[in-house]
Amino acid sequence: MKASSLLTPVVSLLFFSGSLQAAGGFYGDPPDATHPWTIHDLNRPQPVRVEPGTYSSEEKPGLPPSDAIVLFDGSAEAINQWQADKNPAEPTKWIVKDGSLQCVPGSGYVRTKEEFGDCQLHIEWSAPSEVKGDSQGRGNSGVFLMGQVEVQVLDNYNNPTYADGSAGSVYGVNPPMANALRKPGEWQVYDIVFRRPIFKDGKMVEAGYLTVFCNGVLLQDHTPLQGGGGHKSRTKDRAFPEIGPLKLQDHGNPVRYRNIWYRPLPKRASEGGDVSVMSPEATLAKRSAIAKEIREKAAALQGREKLLHQLESLCYAIDEALLKEVTLATDALATEWKATEKIEPKKGEVMQLNAALQYLSKFKIVELPAAGVLNDLVKANEWDKKK
Ligand code: MG
Repeated sequence: MKASSLLTPVVSLLFFSGSLQAAGGFYGDPPDATHPWTIHDLNRPQPVRVEPGTYSSEEKPGLPPSDAIVLFDGSAEAINQWQADKNPAEPTKWIVKDGSLQCVPGSGYVRTKEEFGDCQLHIEWSAPSEVKGDSQGRGNSGVFLMGQVEVQVLDNYNNPTYADGSAGSVYGVNPPMANALRKPGEWQVYDIVFRRPIFKDGKMVEAGYLTVFCNGVLLQDHTPLQGGGGHKSRTKDRAFPEIGPLKLQDHGNPVRYRNIWYRPLPKRASEGGDVSVMSPEATLAKRSAIAKEIREKAAALQGREKLLHQLESLCYAIDEALLKEVTLATDALATEWKATEKIEPKKGEVMQLNAALQYLSKFKIVELPAAGVLNDLVKANEWDKKK
């Protein structure tokens, strides 16, 4: 349902009367103990603009989105963004060939110079078209987020192995929900959402999570991570650092990679991020900040616009001095309008202020004496009746 179809006549007048910003605080349900914004809050920051990229084809890698940090673009120089894992001072022995980053068996893991934490990662890989070996010995490599936890890379297109070591498994932790591989030699596309486990004072306050798509098919759905996971060992709670390099595994097979990029993710609520459900302390702080911003806007305005902004700020945080100021201002307006003989030309103004005051009363934010006077005025003029 469109928002516009939910608007009452009073609110739609408010909404389209040019006081769009002021209407932000008097529309949907107000902030509460864990949500600093109102529902449909126009004060809430807009999503950042990202120009989307393009999809890859078998022949050609796609383009990354505009805000992606590119880790491998297929150029010969891109190798300079990578280093040997064991001896980072040394250049890696992995090679760039035909636009792909290729594992040279026996050369060891490769890792990015870039270090990062929670991310959306895009990475494409291709197992050798010449099929050799079986189970874990065929086209094996791996994508290690922060160098800590492996999303398995393996040619098990037609090659069964233990489920928790299949392509797209969180290795040793959780099998993929499906085998969505293309044939060996073809490009496989992994899109991964990674969140590291968050520890505070030695205790895990939030698990890490891995979501993995392979060729557009969901393999891992927000799979919880306590620690790393590994060969033969059960995962244990383990603190991750804040950032780390992306590592690719040398498992003795010449697996190729292309089109590697990531986008950092915003902080979660447990790290102080501004997301939907926040801690009561963070919510209070955010509500105060929003109120302060609206009051600063109000200070640059005059008359009714100023008053509406001041009232709106009360939805986020009460300020006793401001409360006294708006009580006097609304009382003065209510008294003036009550005494006005020809009130019809003032209908828009009365309705707008009344809507704001009724909102504040309805949600028990603050009960201003003028709310009753204005409501009586609206009813006496039958402005509350649909025409
Ligand atoms: Mg592996």
